[in-house]
Amino acid sequence: MSSPGLAELHLHLYGCLTSDHVLDMLALAERPAWDRYEPSYERVFGRPSPARALVERHRRGDASARAEFRELFVFGEADAGSFARFQAKFDLIAAASVIGLAVHEEEHRAAALAELRQSARVVLDDQRRHGVGYAEQRFFFGHRTPAEFVDEGLRAILEVYAEHHARGGRPIARLAASLPRSNPWHHWEVVQRLALSDLGVALTGVDFCFIEEGHPPKEQRALFSAVRDHNARNPERALSILYHVGESFEDKSLESAVRWVHEAAELGAHRLGHAIALGVDPAAYGEVRRESVAERRDQVLYDLRHAEGLERHGVRVDRPALARELDELDALDRLDALGRRAPPDEVQVVYDDRRRAEVHARQRFAMAAVRAHGAVVEVCPTSNLRIGGLRDPSHHPLRRFLEEQVPVVIASDDPGIFGTTLRDELAWAAAHAGLSAEEHDALAAGAWRYRSERLTGRDR
Ligand SMILES: [Zn+2]
Repeated sequence: MSSPGLAELHLHLYGCLTSDHVLDMLALAERPAWDRYEPSYERVFGRPSPARALVERHRRGDASARAEFRELFVFGEADAGSFARFQAKFDLIAAASVIGLAVHEEEHRAAALAELRQSARVVLDDQRRHGVGYAEQRFFFGHRTPAEFVDEGLRAILEVYAEHHARGGRPIARLAASLPRSNPWHHWEVVQRLALSDLGVALTGVDFCFIEEGHPPKEQRALFSAVRDHNARNPERALSILYHVGESFEDKSLESAVRWVHEAAELGAHRLGHAIALGVDPAAYGEVRRESVAERRDQVLYDLRHAEGLERHGVRVDRPALARELDELDALDRLDALGRRAPPDEVQVVYDDRRRAEVHARQRFAMAAVRAHGAVVEVCPTSNLRIGGLRDPSHHPLRRFLEEQVPVVIASDDPGIFGTTLRDELAWAAAHAGLSAEEHDALAAGAWRYRSERLTGRDR
């Protein structure tokens, strides 16, 4: 009996495409959508991209083009700390893909479905070669995608998985449909139907990804409860809730960023994507942050609601002062006669050593809560360091997660564009957290316990 291999739980299908796959897609494309890529590349990198010329050289059989294309495509260490640079590189995939066109123009649908099938297949091949025995893939259609194309697209991927499993192929492949944060309901209808179909065996979760700013977890309360309803009625086709949170939080205080992670777990997310805010060293951030009055108001209410727990963890909660602040914020949050929000609509938060120490204590409280809710944190080291804006690896929260016994799984997020593998990510995690070889193996094996079908009770 061969080993079951690694379980990879946080992946985005197109983020798994390697530079070789993307180069092949571009070389075969009739008309690559260069306008989706070249202007943004030039704006961000300050020079024109050599991609078009490299694709031409590759088409003419120039073998050296592959290595140069890889250099251009991979979002490496030199690019770290800028989401704009990540997006500019990711746009190469958009140039190669017809999915963007198919969203609005039906004549491109068949080509888009063929592309999805082909992408699903090549990614499975890569995973098998890298020792992955189980892979949970996510796929996101933007919120403007019509429901019937979402249905066809998810079906196309699930059909590839069904054929693959019928042949006894490895890895075991699972799909989580990423739902648009702004309005998940149309896509949820499709997902629910598919989950109950023959193809539903491989559809094991829903996910929330892409821009998190402006979308507090509380917005998804009704959706989470609809998923729980579905699960109660269809335990053999139950779906996990995967939720990217606490990865990017430019628009709010560190306190609010910690709170969002806590709230996502409280609302019932099974796994939390990244959740850097939950344990990151507060010293990684600048002295001044701003957040909306509405966000500050939610934070004050949270502090009052959790006063006892926060105090037990060493956070001073001044209840009368918070009650007064709530009145002041309510006064600020009113609308004027024309329905405009009265200025100022933002509050400023200044961090000194005392306040940073307090954030540290809040994180311990929230970590205990996440643990109590049974939520699992998905740690994707390369992604966190390169797009999460953590320039100093010593600020990374993994060590604290392990110390506080937060359930964690190591994953690779977008291994293609990062030029990484799950083994690389596990090696980084072990080195960073000072794990022994046995602890490294236990961390890797533990991922099997946190598969969606296990967390939802489908697989007993
Ligand atoms: Zn992700």
